[in-house]
Amino acid sequence: MIQSIAELCELIQIPASALNLDKNSSFSLKVPQHFAKQIEAKNPQDPLLLQILPDLVEQQQNIAFSLDPVGDLKANPIDSLLHKYYGRVLLIISPKCDIHCRYCFRRHFPYEQAKKTHWQEALDYIEQDKTISEVIFSGGDPLSLSENILIDLIQKIAKIPHITTLRIHSRTPVVMPTKADKTKLLEVLKYSRLNIVLVVHCNHPNELTKDTLILFNKYKQANITLLNQSVLLKNVNDSAKTLEQLSKKLFSQGVLPYYCHLLDKVSGAKHFLVNDHQGGVLLEELRKRLPGYLVPKFMTEIAGEPYKTQLKDFK
Ligand SMILES: *Cc1c(COP(=O)(O)O)cnc(C)c1O
Ligand code: SF4
Repeated sequence: MIQSIAELCELIQIPASALNLDKNSSFSLKVPQHFAKQIEAKNPQDPLLLQILPDLVEQQQNIAFSLDPVGDLKANPIDSLLHKYYGRVLLIISPKCDIHCRYCFRRHFPYEQAKKTHWQEALDYIEQDKTISEVIFSGGDPLSLSENILIDLIQKIAKIPHITTLRIHSRTPVVMPTKADKTKLLEVLKYSRLNIVLVVHCNHPNELTKDTLILFNKYKQANITLLNQSVLLKNVNDSAKTLEQLSKKLFSQGVLPYYCHLLDKVSGAKHFLVNDHQGGVLLEELRKRLPGYLVPKFMTEIAGEPYKTQLKDFK
């Protein structure tokens, strides 16, 4: 795990003085070796590097960019449980991530609160509401937790009769495949009565490697449905060519594209913004280049709406 700027600079062969670094960011540098090794040396514009480098530009404030852009704090009936949409609840089961993504919409989330939870309260909530059929593990990153904690929680959820599906949202499989290779957990998921969906978070084709391919094959053998969600990020993946390659490479590794999110307006991330119009143009281009099943849905999230909003074609 790389957490020092000096170590990162040495690996990517760029002197710190050549970068516009924010050395005192409250959201510190954190990047696993596996991800860092996919960064091209001597390229300060590398699309993977831009996702993890604390840049001084983050300090620019903008009135439209807030600390809680999607209204999560309001949808919190009990600590660590978000019930925003019908039939689905989201559990923030880990405050930690294996990587710090600069565009993260939860970068200001009060995770300290989440840490203290005691699962029973969340499980009771789910048990009492029979309209809930799907539990979503989110974070932070759920796979940053230990196998035993995850297994215990999954077994408790499987005992609730009205739950049919467990969905895990995690960036760990892509950024740190060795850590996401949890044998005991895969065994439990394979024989679980629940449908298991794993949504990996991959933004750029360069993030997919031989190691991710091996890992995804193991997931498939455990009957896990693999989907991807990405965030549309300026200078990282805001070109039709990159998004086309991303979809094709994901598919070659057994993963189907699910959502491509337009950026949530979280303070510190304005320099990543691709606006709705540009997003619509990209979507239109992708639909020309790819079969329908490889075109992700372009999504925005409007606080207070009963579902995430799909961006319409630009015409
Ligand atoms: C995104 C999200 C979901 C899942 O929405 P889908 O459209 O089913 O992917 C559920 N709960 C919360 C709080 C979410 O933010
Ligand atoms: S892995 Fe996800 S939750 Fe964690 S910092 Fe990155 S975007 Fe945010």
